[in-house]
Amino acid sequence: MSKSLTVVLPVLVALNCAAVAKATAPVPVPLPRSNPLRNTEQEKQENAKPAAPLFSEEKLPSLGRAMVIGYYPRGCLQGGVALPPTGPTWQVMRLSRDRNWGHPDLVRFLERFAPLAAEATGWKGILIGDMAQPRGGPLPFGHKSHQTGLDVDVWFMPMPDRILSKQERESILSSNVVAADGKHVDDKRWSPADAAFIRTAAEQPEVERVLVNAAIKKELCRVESKSDQSWMSKVRPWYGHDDHIHVRLRCPTDSPDCRAQPPVPGGDGCDKSLDHWFADWILRLKIPEFSGSSRNLKLKDLPPACSAVLNAPANPVSATQQESQPR
Ligand SMILES: [Zn+2]
Repeated sequence: MSKSLTVVLPVLVALNCAAVAKATAPVPVPLPRSNPLRNTEQEKQENAKPAAPLFSEEKLPSLGRAMVIGYYPRGCLQGGVALPPTGPTWQVMRLSRDRNWGHPDLVRFLERFAPLAAEATGWKGILIGDMAQPRGGPLPFGHKSHQTGLDVDVWFMPMPDRILSKQERESILSSNVVAADGKHVDDKRWSPADAAFIRTAAEQPEVERVLVNAAIKKELCRVESKSDQSWMSKVRPWYGHDDHIHVRLRCPTDSPDCRAQPPVPGGDGCDKSLDHWFADWILRLKIPEFSGSSRNLKLKDLPPACSAVLNAPANPVSATQQESQPR
């Protein structure tokens, strides 16, 4: 604001002066060599651009210390790091999307959570879906959030006992554990291991929320013991999320510009508030309408620091890390 005023005001004054000069003495006024209005106009045009294509074009994280900027559905990530596509107890799916990036807290969480989940479920490991783009930011398709490097989708499907090929990671579909009516879990696909998987995620201290389909939350309310359910308050019903859980971490301590989400309400969430999700009109809603997308966000909708992240030089160290990982 103050920057644009300091640019615009002298120009307006100059234009007025020019008008007076023209009235009194018809001397041609030379045009300025560069038009100071241009920067403001350029800035305006830049800010009006859709942000998703700009962020998705960036194949490497920005230079600078890791820092989350903004809010989960309206932000970006400085100094992101990549989760290796293959680990002892995890494999990243849909590698072509280049969304296995996050704040170091998210990468550390996944490296710690994967073996814990494997132990709790008896699975060989976990299959990891989308995290964030190298510099975070809005995505051209698929999510409203996942913009700050603190969100990750983890599939309801055990990792197989072998390394999946790049092609398999593109084509294998996750397992939908919700029945067709949307009111219950599908007994043929749901197992107690799925409950243990969710519980293990929600029990981790850095986890702020775990989003699951309402039918899954309902099943957890049915089977989980009434004692020691502090983790249940973090498991929140949401649209979709019938073939994966969405794990969201709290703001990292190194990120003063990270905007926290309001804390989850206390209690296990198994009260009447859950009934709302099973109203006919909610069940009839098509998931994509509500899972939404961030593709229409403009640069001006994001914190100004995100433009700096977008324009920052790339971090070549991260390039080496990413390339050295097995595919
Ligand atoms: Zn998600």
